Amino acid sequence: MLQDRFGRRFSYLRLSVTEVCNFRCNYCLPQGYKGRADEQYLTPLELERVVRGFAAMGTQKVRLTGGEPSLRRDLPEIISRIRRIDGIHTVAVTTNGYKLPQKVKQWADAGLHQLNVSIDSLDAQEFHRITGHDRLAEVLEGIRIARAIGLKVKVNSVLMKSINDDLTHTLEFLKTNPISWRFIEVMETSDQQVFFRQFHQSGESIKNNLLKDGWQPVVSEKTAGPAQEFWHPDYAGRIGLIMPYSKDFCSTCNRLRVSSLGKLHLCLFAEQGISIRKYLQPEVELEELIRAVSNHVQGKTETHLLNSHNSGAMANLSQIGG
Ligand code: SAM
Repeated sequence: MLQDRFGRRFSYLRLSVTEVCNFRCNYCLPQGYKGRADEQYLTPLELERVVRGFAAMGTQKVRLTGGEPSLRRDLPEIISRIRRIDGIHTVAVTTNGYKLPQKVKQWADAGLHQLNVSIDSLDAQEFHRITGHDRLAEVLEGIRIARAIGLKVKVNSVLMKSINDDLTHTLEFLKTNPISWRFIEVMETSDQQVFFRQFHQSGESIKNNLLKDGWQPVVSEKTAGPAQEFWHPDYAGRIGLIMPYSKDFCSTCNRLRVSSLGKLHLCLFAEQGISIRKYLQPEVELEELIRAVSNHVQGKTETHLLNSHNSGAMANLSQIGG
């Protein structure tokens, strides 16, 4: 099993399939995606090869992310190739929910297990202001369909002070919807330092309020993401908190990332990753990919440096995939 020098084991791969995103979230790409339109993103075969290598090293869960993964027309093919790999028991997609009602059935037919949808507000106008798109109703309808066809659905919400830190609507929603709703503390990137200073809010106060109101911690699985989850007997849904600024956040890290251009990143906030694209070609033995990844992982640092306002090479999360 792939392990680093601090004994952390990596069973979870976040695999980006594109840098392009069509939303203009205020904390990420407020001016929209400005990168090159002609980048050569990893092909379905190369993506399959990444996962074959990682699966041979103990990876069990793969999350496809971006940019916006649904902008790739071949996403169903990518899902189905990854789904068939021995050892992979969960394939998930993180999406902004754009045209989700039309797309989600194809993904489920291709073998998707889990969907993470970003919803930063359940107030339609606020959602529009944050993302640049008046599409909350469409996203919610997509979630309804996803659940009806049997997908496990989680929601990601970036927590922003005085924008969406009032949980009233979310709590109402969770009364009847068995969904895990995860608040992620906004993280500082080099593109968004001013925004971060103005809007970052720690999840600790929310955690304390939840505990006071009878929410209880859930014991998490080995391949689970970084959220601390809470459940309550009066609610069908759960609340998760992702608090990257909290003490010991990195000590349970079980994730590695590969970008859509084939770079291995040991952390969202590390320096530039290393290219593993040459190992993804059919003439190269899978062993070479495995050796390169295992060696590089030994350089993973104990923690990120976000608390000292060092975001590494991260300009915005569409580059590597959140
Ligand atoms: N386009 C997809 C989406 O919207 O979910 C996938 C990519 S997006 C980069 C993945 C997640 O990262 C989203 O939930 C997004 O809200 C979150 N994210 C982006 N920038 C962030 C930041 N600076 N701090 C915290 N979360 C961020």
